[in-house]
Amino acid sequence: MRVAVASGKGGTGKTTVAVNLALARGHLQLLDCDVEDPDAALFLHPEIQSVVPVTVTVPRHLPDRCTFCGRCAQLCAYNAIVVLPGQWLLTAELCKDCGGCYLVCPEQALVPSSREIGTLIRGLADHDVEVVTGDLRPGEAMATPMIRRVKKMASDESPVVVDCPPGTACAMVHAVDGADLCLLVTEPTPFGCHDLEQALDVVGAMDVPCAVVINRSDLGDAGVRTLCERRGVPVLLEIPFDRDLAEAYARGQAAVDADGRWLSVFRELWDRLEELAVQRSRDAATR
Ligand code: SF4
Ligand code: SF4
Repeated sequence: MRVAVASGKGGTGKTTVAVNLALARGHLQLLDCDVEDPDAALFLHPEIQSVVPVTVTVPRHLPDRCTFCGRCAQLCAYNAIVVLPGQWLLTAELCKDCGGCYLVCPEQALVPSSREIGTLIRGLADHDVEVVTGDLRPGEAMATPMIRRVKKMASDESPVVVDCPPGTACAMVHAVDGADLCLLVTEPTPFGCHDLEQALDVVGAMDVPCAVVINRSDLGDAGVRTLCERRGVPVLLEIPFDRDLAEAYARGQAAVDADGRWLSVFRELWDRLEELAVQRSRDAATR
């Protein structure tokens, strides 16, 4: 089973839920696809097994061949190339590796080259949790190549928890894609409600079944519960504000390690996710 843990907005406790779910179940893989701010490892403290660079392909310019005709710049839909008289400029961060500029260049003045965008870190944490972290370099504009690289590491042998980037943009869609279930973490505020609705729309359009966790459930209003009821989305867990939990978080400690009662809470959450996944495959079989 592959569970994507996502949220319509940042700061809802998404990583807290992903980390504790992984530790409570154990014997699985956690993919940290929140590549602009990967912090699951801060709570899992994995023993690092490997660190490898992640690269993307960008064009390299051969000035001796170039006639500065400008065709490559006209073709590039992402404005990554600018051609001026006698000058060829690339903003490598904007290149999406579509390959078009190589094809239109009449002089074969562009060749593929590698550019490092970050690192892929693999480690082993307690409870037999394999942690794979995509760590995008600060300032890199595109998270999706890194997310694709992290997801290539997904295990076929064990369950997988994917810590997704917050929001509902391309990066989140890439991270959720292929999941059996998406667990959306929210908070009971008007902002939380608004962003949860957007996330439900996006994940629903991907045909991935959703369930919800309400964090700091005793604060705020009833908006998210009403929304979940109206959309027929199960709320699998409500986590009231807990000072001990917040202090453990500040120390970089997972809730299940700080206080044993959370172990059963998150194990139960995993069991409910499994039930939903089974139900979903039964429904699909009878369609
Ligand atoms: S298309 Fe080729 S020759 Fe023309 S400006 Fe671009 S790199 Fe130079
Ligand atoms: S490979 Fe595509 S996106 Fe990258 S510079 Fe060339 S045309 Fe632009």
